[in-house]
Amino acid sequence: MSIFSYKFSGEVWQGETAFNTGLFIDGEFCYGANGATMDVLNPTTGKLITKIAQGTASDVDVAVKAARKAFETTWGLNASGSERAALLRKLAELMDLHKEELAAIEALDNGKTFDCALSIDVTVASETIKYYSGWADKITGQTLETNENKFCYTRHEPIGVVGQIIPWNFPLLMMTWKIAPALATGNCVILKPSEFTPLTALRMASLIEEAGFPAGVVNIIVGHGDIVGSAISGHMGIDKVAFTGSTAVGRKIMDAAAKSNIKGVTLELGGKSPTIVFDDADLEQAVGFAAYGIFFNNGQACAAGSRIFVQEGIYDEFLERFTARTKSTVIGDPFTKGVAQGPLVSKPHFDRVMGYINSGIEQGATVHYSGEEKKSDGYFIQPTIFTDTTPDMKIVQEEIFGPVVVIIKFKDEDDVVRQANETVYGLAAVVFSQNITRALETTHRLKAGTVWVNCANQLHVNVPFGGYKQSGIGRELGEYALHNYTNVKSVQVNFRYKP
Ligand code: NAD
Repeated sequence: MSIFSYKFSGEVWQGETAFNTGLFIDGEFCYGANGATMDVLNPTTGKLITKIAQGTASDVDVAVKAARKAFETTWGLNASGSERAALLRKLAELMDLHKEELAAIEALDNGKTFDCALSIDVTVASETIKYYSGWADKITGQTLETNENKFCYTRHEPIGVVGQIIPWNFPLLMMTWKIAPALATGNCVILKPSEFTPLTALRMASLIEEAGFPAGVVNIIVGHGDIVGSAISGHMGIDKVAFTGSTAVGRKIMDAAAKSNIKGVTLELGGKSPTIVFDDADLEQAVGFAAYGIFFNNGQACAAGSRIFVQEGIYDEFLERFTARTKSTVIGDPFTKGVAQGPLVSKPHFDRVMGYINSGIEQGATVHYSGEEKKSDGYFIQPTIFTDTTPDMKIVQEEIFGPVVVIIKFKDEDDVVRQANETVYGLAAVVFSQNITRALETTHRLKAGTVWVNCANQLHVNVPFGGYKQSGIGRELGEYALHNYTNVKSVQVNFRYKP
């Protein structure tokens, strides 16, 4: 298979990488069944980074067989918790050893800044693997009292072969959120990265091999969603599918799972998260976190606080301070010092976000702020603030997934809770108030899987994350994620009773 090698020479990091661009199946890199390749483009320039192997449905078949064999011979109930823990720990050590290289690959492929990739994506990805390595030998059931004639207990057994399909916004991080709890609990994995950002997953394949995981335990198949992704979600030999991505594709995953073997499904989907700023908020704190809440990762975050509701008495001052802060965002090459925001991930996504900005204008909203256009072949979009919106506008209702925010005035608690919940999504919400009663009463009335009080976009490996409503099914992170990857077996042992 071809090796991709690249020298990084940006201001923030100089170094190099080299890794295999094949599919990773049964512990080996290989071409896809039809030998086809696909292009990986650099979002900063629009130019080709490399070509990689392109998977097909028959590659998924081969990977399923390899994973099943591994599950029944070297993994599953055949590897002890402490063996699984040791391999995960080794993988995290290798990631730490190569952290700058992984961050550089991520920045090149996704367009996020090198600093962000290093301090957030790679750091938290490695923490995630370490955290679940700690769980691997602590997967236990319960003993249950029924009557004196019986002994009952539960076992939490691995599900088997699990398919995992991930998006492009945090490619490496999402990969670890998926594989770490699955491997800790003894499952074998078939992972499909996004076709837009496959490179860190391929680099990770070689680290997984180096860490010493048995062949077939982790298989990585790059390819298009409607080919490889749908082959995974509809496969009769895959016992469970875990998906992170858009609500529209999540619906297709559920449908394919239902029409095949009724495999279990966990879904981490889209959002349109509200940020609520009450008139007693610490304004500096609220402005800082609200800006971070929407513009972090260029707005390409599922929990992005894309609707900011500000109480009428402080609306003008908030808007002025929020705008000043937005204007100070430095946009440019992800490898240049001081740059806070790189390009969006791809041309199709750039067109989609620009379509939303144009729809806001056409539907009569005011563009309160949008920076100067950056003339470039890359996919750069300026942070954009809309005001004077109405609830029916597309920019208020739909997930934009870019650096675009609407700022809306509200009267009181009832008014803002009603507006905040007026969405099909329920991933996250943010509340700013110095009044603990008001903050928590509002928090409990919001339909969201996570509510941040006086902060935004904070994630911790031990705190569950997931959505209400059409934002998903199930929770990632923390102990909760282990439940996504275990079957509960109840065992009832009779002593002397004869019917
Ligand atoms: P997407 O749904 O377009 O793609 C996600 C993955 O699904 C990709 O790997 C893609 O190839 C694959 N896919 C596409 N069509 C498929 C099909 N028919 N069958 C199976 N797989 C298919 O999403 P995206 O554009 O990559 O990512 C952005 C979306 O992800 C946003 O909606 C965002 O909110 C969501 N997201 C959610 C979370 C969360 O934790 N809730 C985290 C990150 C991103």
